[in-house]
This record gives sequence, structure tokens and C-alpha cells, in this order.
Amino acid sequence: MSQHKKSVITWTDGREVPFIGQGTWNMGEKASLRQEEVRALQLGFELGMLLVDTAEMYAEGGAEEIVGEAIQGRRDDVYLVSKAYPHHADRQGLAQACEASLTRMGTDYMDMYLLHWRGKIPLEETIEGMEQLREQGKIRSWGVSNLDKSDMEELWNLSGGEACAVNQVLYHVASRGIEYDLLPWSRANGVPVMAYCPIAQGGRLRRGLLEHPVMVDIAASHGVTPSQIALAWVIRDGDVWAIPKAVQESHVRENAAAASIRLTPEQLQQIDEAFPPPMRKQPLDMV
Ligand code: NDP
Repeated sequence: MSQHKKSVITWTDGREVPFIGQGTWNMGEKASLRQEEVRALQLGFELGMLLVDTAEMYAEGGAEEIVGEAIQGRRDDVYLVSKAYPHHADRQGLAQACEASLTRMGTDYMDMYLLHWRGKIPLEETIEGMEQLREQGKIRSWGVSNLDKSDMEELWNLSGGEACAVNQVLYHVASRGIEYDLLPWSRANGVPVMAYCPIAQGGRLRRGLLEHPVMVDIAASHGVTPSQIALAWVIRDGDVWAIPKAVQESHVRENAAAASIRLTPEQLQQIDEAFPPPMRKQPLDMV
């Protein structure tokens, strides 16, 4: 139950990346919202949420275009993460998908490139493809998403698998399955976890989380919203990123401010009682 003293996680290249970044799922779907979405990301950058997560899947490239517009003029300040479809996860597929993503984002490198989820292509081929991109300087590092502990162990046993620098998985107060085995494994092997749906847009028991009396009471005691408490909880131990997606300006501001909320041991205990940690293995939650 350690309370973190810092608000950044040190990345493989030594750069320090703030705990709370920005998601982009559902952005780029409607032309009428484009400017609002670009402005939301830019405001988030100005408020310190410098990690942005996107994927070729989101709006079939539309979200990457929004990201591209938002990072103009500040590319090197931003920590850019995108993801490849599983059916692109071999040497040739990754090379083509990466190039297309870079073009949409108007940049010549990504800070992190992830396998979106595991498909039929053997992990060996994904490692090869990712390493090729890294050697070419198109990506600074690579990782995975939606891999459970057994998949991570398999990856770790493959040549080059230990270069995997992150696992992006669903994690929030009401979906704590990873605490049973995946999170301890990730900590033991030094692989940071990036939590998606951190304010419970998806996953188990998502409805009602933000209205739960415990969340509401703790929020009131800090003078913040239950969503901010949900974010503060995800990043509580100092080694998990949260990547909330927000377009509304008030949401962006709240999410950035959540980085400085510290939950007390008593509040963490109250949350544990209302949303108990897992006592046995649960299938990896995902959306
Ligand atoms: P989130 O838990 O981040 O929830 C997003 C929703 O919450 C939006 O409707 C947003 O509204 C709203 N919201 C944001 N901030 C607040 C706030 N402070 N108070 C109240 N509501 C708020 O879910 P996501 O599914 O978007 O997950 C986050 C990101 O993780 C994605 O955008 C994506 O980048 C990534 N992801 C990765 C997956 C994977 O398979 N690897 C799967 C799913 C997500 P509004 O936009 O109107 O402000």
C-alpha cells in the first residue's frame, strides 16, 4: 500500500513520463468533433498529460490523424504510443502498419508501439518485426496489450521477448483481476502496466462505480470528483500509468489534477472493502 512520492515513471530511454496520459478511443469518428478533440489533447499536453495513446484501429486511422494535428509543434515533448492490429503483427505487416500510422500522425518515430491484442501470428514474428522497426529508428520501444500472465511468460521465454517495455490492460477500481497474478508478475519482471478504461468506461462492474457511496464520500473529502478518485487509485503505487480519454474540457482538467491526489491508507482500505482485491485467478478483463 505504498503511496508514491513522485508523479512520473521512468521509461526505458530514461525519460520521465507522467502517470496520467491521454487515451483517444472514439476520437476521429466525426468530422464535426475534430477541432474539439484536437483542442482537448492540446490542453491535456499543456496540463502535463504528455503521454498519448492511440491505435490504427481507432476510427480506422482517424484518431491517429487527430493526434497528428494535436502534436504539431511539440512532437518531441510528447510521448507517443500507438498500436497495431494483431493481423499486422509480423515483420512485413508491422513495417507497413507502422509507416501508415507515422504518416497519419505526421511524425517519423513513435515512442512506443504495441501489439493491440494477441492474434494468430506467432509472438516470435512480432518480436522480429518490432525489433526491426526499433533498429530502423521508427519506434523507440515496443510493448503489448491485453496479454495475460501466461502470455507474458511465453513472451519472456522467447528470444528478445524481454525487450517488451509495457503491457496495456484494463484496470480500474471495479475490475481488479490483474492484482492476483499479472500485476505481481509485471512488477517482478520490471514491466510497467498501462491501465486502460481507468475511469471504468468498460470492464466488470463498471456501472455504478462513480456513484458508489465510498467513491462519492472520498471524493467529497478531497473536494474532487469520483472520477478523479478512480484515477488517483489506479496510479496509487507509482508504477502504473492511467490513460483516461476525455474530450470535455472539464474532464481534461480534472484528469490532469488527479495526478496530485494522494489517497490515505484509510481511504485505500475503504475502497478495498467496497471493491475487494481478487482472491483467485480471473480471466483478463478487456473491452
Ligand atoms: P475511460 O475509462 O478513459 O473513459 C472515457 C469516458 O469517460 C469518456 O466518455 C469521457 O468523456 C469520460 N470521462 C473522461 N474523464 C472524465 C472525468 N474526469 N469525469 C467524468 N467522465 C470522464 O475509457 P476508455 O475506454 O476511453 O479508455 C481509455 C483509453 O485507453 C482509450 O481512449 C484508449 O486510448 C485506451 N484503450 C485501450 C484498449 C486496448 O485494448 N488496449 C481498450 C480500450 C481503451 P468525454 O470524452 O466526453 O470527456
